Amino acid sequence: MFDKVLIANRGEIALRIQRACRELGLKTVAVYSEADAEARHVRLADEALCIGPASPAQSYLDGAAILFAAHVSGAQAIHPGYGFLSENADFAADVEAAGLVFIGPDAQTIRTMGDKVAAKRAMRAAGVPCVPGPDGSLSDEPAEILRVAEEIGYPVIVKAAGGGGGRGMRVVPGPDQLLDAVSVTREEARRAFGKPQLYVEKFLEHPRHVEIQVLCDTHGNALWLGSRDCSLQRRHQKVVEEAPAPGIDAGLVRQVGERCVEACRHTGYRGVGTFEFLFENGQFYFIEMNTRLQVEHPVTEMTSGIDIVREQIRVAQGHALTVRQSDIRSVGHSFECRINAEDPLTFAPCPGTVSMWEQPGGNGVRVDSHISGGARVPPYYDSLIAKLITHGATRDEALARMRVALSEMRVEGIRTNVPLHQAMFDDEAFCAGGVDIHYLEHWLARRKNHDADR
Ligand code: ADP
Repeated sequence: MFDKVLIANRGEIALRIQRACRELGLKTVAVYSEADAEARHVRLADEALCIGPASPAQSYLDGAAILFAAHVSGAQAIHPGYGFLSENADFAADVEAAGLVFIGPDAQTIRTMGDKVAAKRAMRAAGVPCVPGPDGSLSDEPAEILRVAEEIGYPVIVKAAGGGGGRGMRVVPGPDQLLDAVSVTREEARRAFGKPQLYVEKFLEHPRHVEIQVLCDTHGNALWLGSRDCSLQRRHQKVVEEAPAPGIDAGLVRQVGERCVEACRHTGYRGVGTFEFLFENGQFYFIEMNTRLQVEHPVTEMTSGIDIVREQIRVAQGHALTVRQSDIRSVGHSFECRINAEDPLTFAPCPGTVSMWEQPGGNGVRVDSHISGGARVPPYYDSLIAKLITHGATRDEALARMRVALSEMRVEGIRTNVPLHQAMFDDEAFCAGGVDIHYLEHWLARRKNHDADR
């Protein structure tokens, strides 16, 4: 049991977690870098401690400074949020070793899921459908590498076991390019991730990104809360998310959800997690598991009515889940737009002072943001300034609400990607539902050519 939580993060998610803690009657400790001294999550916390200069490496990624802040403040638990140290197994182990509660799975689980080869092996063993390809790492033998790829069938994708953030992978169209791709990726993996292991799998050409949210306690209860579609991406970064994933047979989603829950029971998973899949030709293929809260969790909260962060904290306290799988319903439809401080055409980050901030409201509209008029968006961190979320009885209603909400959003002093979201919510194919993960990049390329022709 704990009654004081240190939130090792910043921005909207620090505020989101803080709200859940306060609703549960828990005291909150904010930590912040010098660049965030005026931030909203700092002002609203019960206590706040500066942990270093603006640079993430010297503040939000400095595990020792965060543990020291926990010690000084008497916090007994640490919530890592997303990004920063949230999937760092060594940090989770240090938190446990200091006698504190890490609000997430145990360090060993984070380590296993962070190794994509180990994760795929664990999932296949639990009956979760995976992308075709062996679930061991690739040999050094050229003949063996060629044989494995031949057996899978081209195109294949060579991936680093320790890869992340869309880095450390290479698509290979045919055998002529395979051995070069393997050696370049291996070198990159060694340098970037300190781990040379690679694996190879079938490259799917037009998949959607569909994921399943899970929630598990330490009493053997595991639930899946529905599906999300996060196919609208730029450079592997999600831009818009929705729940549920449109146009997929509910029975198939249930089958996969049940396999995910089975895998959680199998591995003794604790807390919240997300199984990410590629979805193509009516089939799910597991790609990775995220062992943390995700940016897009609100769309599932809107459709399931479950406060995911509150449940995450309660299971970390050792409570049993109060809901059962049979209680979980998916009601209506929800969208989330990630509003970034960036140029809507070039995508260059656009930090600065927000001189005016007017956010939308009304029925079925939720805004998760740490920004208000006069706030400064520092250049040192990711550019997410708000998540605009709508819910409607139907997908069309949620779409219409998002159009109105986007039109009400007024930000001055910095540029944002609101115009891009507006274009998407007026785009026929996106509004019809079910676009693949390349859709936005292709759409942007078409826009660029069109502008060049004029
Ligand atoms: P990361 O941890 O770097 O995000 P993932 O394994 O989740 O790596 O893959 C990131 C993205 O790369 C996916 O969302 C997808 O766009 C693409 N990708 C990965 N594996 C495949 C595959 N087998 N076929 C097609 N695209 C893939």
